[in-house]
Amino acid sequence: PELWSNDFNDFICKCLIKDFELRPNVFELLQHVFIKQIVGREKTLQKQLMELIDLNQQMGVIEKTRHERIHTKKGSYMKSQSQTCDDVEDLATLEVLDENTITEQLQRRYATEQIYTYVGDILIAVNPFQKTELYTPEHSKIYVGAKRTSNPPHIYAVADIAYQSMVSHNTDQCIVISGESGAGKTESAHLLVQQLTVLGKANNQTLQEKILLVNSLVEAFGNACTVINDNSSRFGKYLEMKFTCGGTVVGAQISDYLLEKSRVIHRAVGERNFHIFYYIYAGLAERKKLGHYKLSDSKTPKYLHNENVKLVPDIVGNAFYKEQFETVEQCFKVIGFTLELGSVYSTLAGILNAGDVEFTSVASEHQTDKSNISNMAVLESAASLLCIRADELQEALTSHCVVTRGETIVRSNTVEKAIEVRDAMSKALYGRLFSWIVNRINSLLKLDNKGLNIGILDIFGFENFKRNSFEQLCINIANEQIQFYFNQHIFAWEQDEYLNEDVDARVIEYEDNRPLLDLFLQKPMGMLALLDEESRFPQATDQTLVEKFEDNLKSKNFWRPKRVDLGFGIHHYAGKVIYNASGFLAKNRDALPADIVLLLRSSENELIRKLVTHPLTKTGLLFTLYKYLTPLVGLPFQHAEFFVFAKAESTGDATHHPRETTNMKTQTVASYFRYSLMDLLSKMVAGQPHFVRCIKPNNDRQAHKFDREKVLIQLRYTGILETAKIRRQGYSHRILFNNFIERYSILAFRANEEPPMNPETCAVILEKVKLENWVLGKTKVFLKYYHAEQLNLMVRQT
Ligand code: ATP
Ligand code: MG
Repeated sequence: PELWSNDFNDFICKCLIKDFELRPNVFELLQHVFIKQIVGREKTLQKQLMELIDLNQQMGVIEKTRHERIHTKKGSYMKSQSQTCDDVEDLATLEVLDENTITEQLQRRYATEQIYTYVGDILIAVNPFQKTELYTPEHSKIYVGAKRTSNPPHIYAVADIAYQSMVSHNTDQCIVISGESGAGKTESAHLLVQQLTVLGKANNQTLQEKILLVNSLVEAFGNACTVINDNSSRFGKYLEMKFTCGGTVVGAQISDYLLEKSRVIHRAVGERNFHIFYYIYAGLAERKKLGHYKLSDSKTPKYLHNENVKLVPDIVGNAFYKEQFETVEQCFKVIGFTLELGSVYSTLAGILNAGDVEFTSVASEHQTDKSNISNMAVLESAASLLCIRADELQEALTSHCVVTRGETIVRSNTVEKAIEVRDAMSKALYGRLFSWIVNRINSLLKLDNKGLNIGILDIFGFENFKRNSFEQLCINIANEQIQFYFNQHIFAWEQDEYLNEDVDARVIEYEDNRPLLDLFLQKPMGMLALLDEESRFPQATDQTLVEKFEDNLKSKNFWRPKRVDLGFGIHHYAGKVIYNASGFLAKNRDALPADIVLLLRSSENELIRKLVTHPLTKTGLLFTLYKYLTPLVGLPFQHAEFFVFAKAESTGDATHHPRETTNMKTQTVASYFRYSLMDLLSKMVAGQPHFVRCIKPNNDRQAHKFDREKVLIQLRYTGILETAKIRRQGYSHRILFNNFIERYSILAFRANEEPPMNPETCAVILEKVKLENWVLGKTKVFLKYYHAEQLNLMVRQT
């Protein structure tokens, strides 16, 4: 007891007497002190106990004590009320900068519902896993055009900074949201869009409404329940909000990246298909339309099988699904989809029916294995929903044409092959339906005027499941690329400029993940290139593929674990992942047989026909690529290769040459993926970036639970500590003298004055507005992260 001040001792006793709930926790802490005899750590323990008490008070478990620390009361949010004396809103300003202090700060803030914290100009968002009072219209209001330091950190402040900087500098902006699966990226993206429509003063209520609905619509088709996240994004999304030069929001465009369409036909244990399938099932049942779409109210389609959902009644009786169906339909209608809705539902029901088509093996005289359809009625349903002829569908599933020496020979498919073709058709239909919806939204929200835009990147988070397949590899490579971009922007480019401009700033060490990107993307020996090469050999198997990896990938980040067949391990920036190469080749080839393409092109349903004639290459993307190519210098790709690649893309429209789809020359998933990554990067590099780092505080999706170890690991791999250091010591804003004078001369000179374009003028301006700690380089003004905002605010007030 002598370790504690009397005051504190008294306080503990009071807690023990007054509060039953708290007792076990207090006892545990006291045990720590007395049994384990941890002398000298009493300060930390004292702090921990205080936090515990704070948390309990906040949850209403105990009353406030006479040690009045001030707490966030639910519903009240003024800065003065929520901050304690040792609470820090910007980690870059911490006196002691180490992992523990940072984690402690985040934990302390999290305990009082302050989920947002800055690291310089970067926002950290710790997932609260519960509804908070942080997003009311009042909050929205106080963050409009406000000085960053006058309000607590918030995602709305990021929206405001991006918006103000777009308007005042007349440049495009890009907000990159990263974090592992379930960390809160998609929620953050929603909040940004919401606040940007407020800032952009959409004078047209319908447009604002439409933009807000876009996310809900694409998420119904592109998100699914995984073991990690009930609403996990299974595609990457880059949403661009379009503004006039004056800053009025006028439209939106989405680019989608790599939908995990294999989910349509197969899911890991505990996972579900895309949300939309459950929504339409429940919604159509409610409208008594299941029969119309050939869906059974007693038998669950195979594609919806899952150990938790075995029975259709679970789906049709689900009130949430019904509600979502109505919402989705409403979104479709408001955005402007009209006549196509019935066709969309037919396509989805057609896919579900196709999944139930079964085959039996029949012995034939000439061939050992031949397949027959064992449930013709189901096949007929699928065909009628897709508006194609049943006999032709039967033929396309159970046989294929081979052209030998100019002669076309029809060969039977084995059962295995027939199942493969059936599933390839379902996957292709769904993938193309998704792209069609995205394109249609884009054309409905399109605008002619060339203004400015703010892009928001919400891409699937880093994943590490019990079993990781091709999809996880692609997802994790994408995250690796985003991390690389973050590093380039925060560390590499900044430090290069110090050197070039003779600015004296301390070099910060950071974890460079370039070797990993090389491991994946290099040609000809990178993993994706090897995968493509192997996919070209008809005889190759997943086994030969991993052997090829093992023989050719010489990196300490790659290894073959013993006792895991077809397994290989990668040490990603975010941790070690063991992948299973089973199915890699088939997934990469992603072949859709020519007979199926031709058949679907004969559909009497216009939508289905559009899906299969719709070019795979998006000319819009290519245009962006060329437009933004120049800034790509310094990224780990060769321009030459890139040009060749982009050109091949623009002519390689596989669907126009159906016969080609059966040979291996067509585009593989890996090559399309490389291309998508390039496209994405080109967009990111073109705008001024802002970063939001989402952190998942625990693996149980529980509110109020802050797993320090879990958080620490995320802080480590995302380089938050180094970021805090470089933000404190470095100069994140670097502006050419001329540009600086053009922008800010108004702060020190009269409008009719024309000061000389030289460094001295810059110094005059900076001294006039009393900024400190800036530096002049050879050609640029070097500013701290907080200077830029202060200057912009002063300009607005002038
Ligand atoms: P994935 O990579 O799997 O798509 P994600 O990072 O996009 O994951 P979200 O879907 O945004 O994760 O978040 C997961 C869940 O966490 C949400 O469904 C929601 O319940 C909760 N959540 C996230 N952010 C917030 C927030 N700001 N307020 C309240 N709840 C949140
Ligand atoms: Mg998401």
